[in-house]
Amino acid sequence: MREGNLEAPTRHPLDWKSEAFYDEGAAFSELSRVFDICHGCRRCVNLCTAFPTLFDLVDSSRTLEVDGVAQQDYWKVVDQCYLCDTCYMTKCPYVPPHPWNVDFPHLMLRAKAIKFKKGGAGLRDKLLSSTDAMGKLATIPVVVQATNALNKNKAFRSILDSTLGVHKERELPEYASRKFRSSAFASKKFEIKDGKNTPGKVAVFSTCYVNYNEPGMGHDLLAILAHNEIPYVLVEKEACCGMPKLELGDLSSVSELKDKNIPGMAKLAKEGYAILTPIPSCTLMFKQELPLMFPDEAGVQAVKDAMFDPFEYFVLRAKDGLLKKDFKQKLGKVAYHIPCHSRVQNVGQKTREMLQMIPDTAVTTVERCAGHDGTWGVKKEYFDNSMKIGRPVFRALAAAEPDYVSSDCPIAGRHLMQGMGEENVSDKTRQAEKAHPLTLLRKAYGI
Ligand code: SF4
Ligand code: SF4
Repeated sequence: MREGNLEAPTRHPLDWKSEAFYDEGAAFSELSRVFDICHGCRRCVNLCTAFPTLFDLVDSSRTLEVDGVAQQDYWKVVDQCYLCDTCYMTKCPYVPPHPWNVDFPHLMLRAKAIKFKKGGAGLRDKLLSSTDAMGKLATIPVVVQATNALNKNKAFRSILDSTLGVHKERELPEYASRKFRSSAFASKKFEIKDGKNTPGKVAVFSTCYVNYNEPGMGHDLLAILAHNEIPYVLVEKEACCGMPKLELGDLSSVSELKDKNIPGMAKLAKEGYAILTPIPSCTLMFKQELPLMFPDEAGVQAVKDAMFDPFEYFVLRAKDGLLKKDFKQKLGKVAYHIPCHSRVQNVGQKTREMLQMIPDTAVTTVERCAGHDGTWGVKKEYFDNSMKIGRPVFRALAAAEPDYVSSDCPIAGRHLMQGMGEENVSDKTRQAEKAHPLTLLRKAYGI
């Protein structure tokens, strides 16, 4: 038996439609097997709180081995995992094709799916994972002002904390009064210039977050495309990508959302569009999770092949000699955090590469989990761990004394500003501005 992989990691499709997937006895045997390998390895001890929870259970057991841990306590490990995928992609030497076949995140997903099938989700988790429905409701005129005011009201947040389990200290995103999809400008009629690495026309999957919470990021993306004379369309019908439901283990809802999104997107893929989504978790959903859940669906695979992270697209466009570099404004010092769901796309640090093309711009990159995840760090029982996981990132970003703090994930970006605000940082760092990389790129173009 080899110690560790020599080949590139591969990932098996998720067998989520089979009855065996939900067999609790079989799942517990697999959890025991993998936990035993992890106990003998422990490389992932500082990634998140799932591994320390496991190792503490083992170390306080009678046998000092996994067989001394009560199986009911396995759920404590499962609950601490927010499926960032970092252990699989960056640490584990035993992932397939290694014969030990360890896929820790997908084993956690299987356990979450079993838990969901047995008990469903509580009200809070249902609400937090229904980003589309919540967004539609919260952005109704008048309701939007009330929602934003209530989310900042201490008394209301205490009630939300005690009744629903949304932590009162967590800074929540505001809802926008004008949705991105209804305020986006139509593209001008540019000539389509296909490059060797990039299609010359783009379809934008805007995402719930950009549509309802931060439409400015979407407008920045469209402005950058227009500046580079790349014609674009919006994906015609758009539902949530399904990532929040996946994180709950609600795989049937993921399947329903896939049925809403994929037909239109697959048509665009077949017509030769590059599909861009500005949120890394949503990009990853189409690039990795849906293709592993539906390996036999041609539409899902077509969307996977057409899907780009925006900065992956821009850097490839630059390689094709088709990206403008007429930057008008320097950015100074940028403290940039690369989110886990960007790292696991396996395309390298494309945002950093792009920002470094801007003159008089120094990028300090922090490549470590910020600990928020989509909804995990909002929940009362995980908020403290979320801040704890993020602390090394807060400190590393603050040490750069930046002009801007930036993350491809706007949810992580807000979490980073909150965490840095609680650290003992310099006055210069305290004045740093949070800006998404798309906003920074638009600013550098001076458009
Ligand atoms: S997927 Fe992320 S949160 Fe889950 S165990 Fe691995 S590193 Fe921890
Ligand atoms: S997931 Fe892999 S690298 Fe991490 S502790 Fe387990 S065996 Fe080790």
